[in-house]
Amino acid sequence: MRVSWGRRFRAAAALPGGVLLLTSLLPAASLQERYAVDWAQRQPETLEYFTHLLRIDTTNPPGNETRAAQAIEAVFKREGIPVQLYALEPNRANLVARLKGNGSKRPLLIMGHTDVVGVQRERWTVDPFAAVRRRGLIYARGANDDKDHVVAGMMALLELKRMHVKLDRDVIFLAEAGEEGTPRVGIDYLVNQYWPEIDAEYALAEGGSVLEDNGSVHHTLITISEKVPRGVRLIARGPSGHGSRPIPDNAVAHLAAAVAKAAAWQTPIRLNDATRAYFERLAAISPPRDAARYRAVLDPARAPEVDRYFYEHEPGHYTLLRTSIAPTMMQAGFRSNVIPSQAEAYLDVRALPDEDITRFLAELRRVINDPSVEVMLASSSGRPAAPPSRTDNAMFHALEDTSRRMFGAPVIPGMLAGATDCAQLRSKGVECYGFGPMAGGEGPSGGAHSDNENISITALDKLIEFLWNTVIEVAAEPR
Ligand SMILES: [Zn+2]
Repeated sequence: MRVSWGRRFRAAAALPGGVLLLTSLLPAASLQERYAVDWAQRQPETLEYFTHLLRIDTTNPPGNETRAAQAIEAVFKREGIPVQLYALEPNRANLVARLKGNGSKRPLLIMGHTDVVGVQRERWTVDPFAAVRRRGLIYARGANDDKDHVVAGMMALLELKRMHVKLDRDVIFLAEAGEEGTPRVGIDYLVNQYWPEIDAEYALAEGGSVLEDNGSVHHTLITISEKVPRGVRLIARGPSGHGSRPIPDNAVAHLAAAVAKAAAWQTPIRLNDATRAYFERLAAISPPRDAARYRAVLDPARAPEVDRYFYEHEPGHYTLLRTSIAPTMMQAGFRSNVIPSQAEAYLDVRALPDEDITRFLAELRRVINDPSVEVMLASSSGRPAAPPSRTDNAMFHALEDTSRRMFGAPVIPGMLAGATDCAQLRSKGVECYGFGPMAGGEGPSGGAHSDNENISITALDKLIEFLWNTVIEVAAEPR
C-alpha cells in the first residue's frame, strides 16, 4: 500500500498529464468540479470576516471568546444557518452550527478555536489586534493560530448553504473557546456536556501545513496523531544560609546540575505507526541524501546516527522520535546574598502517545541521580492520549485527492509535536485530521504564537479552498 502510493506519486509527477490521468481515476473529482467556487471572487468577503475576527481581542486569559462567537452567529443568522452558543462561563461561548444531510453517513465536524495566546506588544512592529495588511500579508495575533481555520469553516458552511449542496452527512462547524490552555471552557465542556452536538465520524482541525520548496508545494502535511504534553517539575531542597559561606548541598547548584542532565539525556528512540508512515512517505519524495536519512531512521541499527543529525539540524524531526524534554523555566532565590532552601525548574516534556509516564519519570530520576531533587508531574494538561487516526478511509483519501488536485503534491501523514483539541476527539473515537496553511516562503517569520504573527492572503485563500474541496468530496451526495 505504502509502496504503491509512492510509485503512483512519482508516476504522476514524471509524466506530463499524469495528474490528469490520476484524477480521471477518482470518481469524486466530478464533485469537486461540480461545486467549484471562485474563491478569488469571494476574497473581499473572506477578508472582511477574517479581519473582523482578528480585531476582536480574544487573548486567553481571559479569552472573551463570546464576542467572536456572536460575530460569527450574526453572519450565520443572516444566511439562515441554524446556530447555537454553549458557554460554561458567559464570556467564553463556543459556537456550533449544523447543516443537515440525509443521514446516510455519520457527521463531519469542522473545527477552529477563537481564542489566541497573549502578545508582548513592545516586540511587535504593528498593532497585534489591528489586522494590518501589508504586501499581501495580514499581521495579527491569531492570523495563523487559529482564526484562519475559523474563517475557513465559516466560508465552508456559508457556501454549502448558498449552493444548496445536498449532503449525505451532517456538516457541523465548531468555533471553540479555550483551546490555548483552558479546554475546560471549550472542548472538554462540549465533550462532557454536549457530546451529541459535535459527535462525528470525522473532524478537520488545525495541526497540519502545506510545505513549499523553491516556490512550489512539496507536500501537504496532515497530522493524524499528536504528542501528549506532560509538564515535569524538579524541586531541589537544601539548607538556606549566607551567600558568603558556600555549602555542598546548595539547592540552586543541585537544580542546575539536574536540569543540565535532563536536557542532555537523549531519551530512547521509538517510532509509531504515524511517524513510520511519515518518514517512509517523506523519503519517497525527498532528494537522495535526505531520503537516505529518512530511511535510515526506520532502521534501529542506523537510527542513532541520524538522531544526532536531527538534534543538530532538524529539531522538528528529532522530537518526533521520542518523548522529549526541554527545560523552560527556573525559579530560585530572592536575594543575591542568601542561599535559598528551595529551587524549582520546569521541564516541558512531550510524551509519545503510548508513553508509560510513570516509567519515564522513574528513568528521569535515575538519570538525574540526586536524592535532593524531587521529580514530579506538574498539573496534567488534560489532553488524553489516543491512537492515531486512520489513513485508509474516505476522509484521508479525500485529503490526498485535494492535495493532488490543488497542488500536484502528495499528502504525508504525521504526528504533531504540539498539542491540539483533536486529542479529545480522537479519544472519543472521532477520526481527526490536522490541516493548515502554507508555511514559509512568504514574508518574515511570524508563525503561530510568534511576534508579528502573519499569514499571506494567498495562503488563507488556499486554506479555505483546501477545506472546501475536502468537505465537498467527503460530505456531498455523489449525485
Ligand atoms: Zn491553535
